Amino acid sequence: MKNKPELLAPAGDLERLKIAILYGADAVYLGGPMFGLRANANNFSLEEIKEGVLFAHEKGKKVYVTVNIVMHNKELEALETYLKHLKECQVDAIIISDPAIIPVAHKVGLEVHLSTQQSTLNYEAVKLWKALGVTRVVIAREASEADIADIKNHVAIELECFIHGAMCASYSGRCVLSNFLTARDSNRGGCSQICRWDFDLYGDDEKLEGEKPFTFCTKDLSMLKVLPKMIELGIDSFKIEGRMRSIYYIATIVSVYRKVIDSYFKDKEHYQYQERYEQILTNCANRESTVQFFNGSYGVEAQYYNGRIELSNQDFLGVIIDYDDETGYATIEERNYFKLGDQVEIFGPEKETFSFKITEILDEENQKIEVVNHPLQVVKVKVPKEVTKLSMMRKNI
Ligand code: SF4
Repeated sequence: MKNKPELLAPAGDLERLKIAILYGADAVYLGGPMFGLRANANNFSLEEIKEGVLFAHEKGKKVYVTVNIVMHNKELEALETYLKHLKECQVDAIIISDPAIIPVAHKVGLEVHLSTQQSTLNYEAVKLWKALGVTRVVIAREASEADIADIKNHVAIELECFIHGAMCASYSGRCVLSNFLTARDSNRGGCSQICRWDFDLYGDDEKLEGEKPFTFCTKDLSMLKVLPKMIELGIDSFKIEGRMRSIYYIATIVSVYRKVIDSYFKDKEHYQYQERYEQILTNCANRESTVQFFNGSYGVEAQYYNGRIELSNQDFLGVIIDYDDETGYATIEERNYFKLGDQVEIFGPEKETFSFKITEILDEENQKIEVVNHPLQVVKVKVPKEVTKLSMMRKNI
């Protein structure tokens, strides 16, 4: 039996770090104040990293920090001091792309993982990174099942693979579309997602009438269908993409993969793929998804060519911020409109999901109301079962 893989979730801020861990992640990755790749994300301050690490370690979980930009000479000077700060925060590893960081990280005593930004797809490259002192390689999203198996067979090193989230139309770390078209450096956290834009098509300087706009936009990645195969490959860490995503997204994706991994390990012989989980993941996404390169072929079904499709999702109804076990009321902070009679479900950390029909809603003055339609409105909803804080209410799926 293979070891249970680590479930690794993105943490865009402290709230999402805590949600990811409470909903079942074994580890989280986040961007610090310097040298990370998400310039537009609310990156963590060193104080927040310290608090996040403390929270994670108390629960036996790990925290990795991205230090994965392409570095310029002038940045080298500040590197050692920054890495010393990360070491003092007791982070479990840093994720790098630029090899210049490795000796400095070792000097201050930090473990080093190699970012997917290096687009590593073969065992000789993995051997090289191992020789340089990297303890884990994040394999490129373009890897097939055979590629991963081959690498596993040739090199004894931890492998991390993406299981869910957005894809690039280019190899990660190789795309400069954003740099040229918007002067924003995608390999330094500034990607403006040009590949998802719509472009008019021209032939011989004439706009092609009747053609829909062209896009390079890929569909997303979802490995739910092939998760047992991934487990049997012996992959050490399953990574979820999305440091810019909402708490609802993080809670939903992490809890689904947590349940699937645990149920596979509980009874491998009788494990069955469940369409319901796929539906939950699909409802949470704003694009369709496929297993992308995993089956060894990359076909037309993996990409949108004519006009991207972005689905908007209003399933997330509210967060449970309190529960009174004497009255059976859950205090809920609204995220999307709901009303009396709606069939809803509540899912939460370490609790079974349950569904019910809303029969009673009280406003802030404990007056009965029929609809909740103000953003962040705090109301009480009668629930049939005990719920924990930070559970979430969504439309029935
Ligand atoms: S433009 Fe698209 S393919 Fe290029 S880095 Fe950004 S998301 Fe990736």
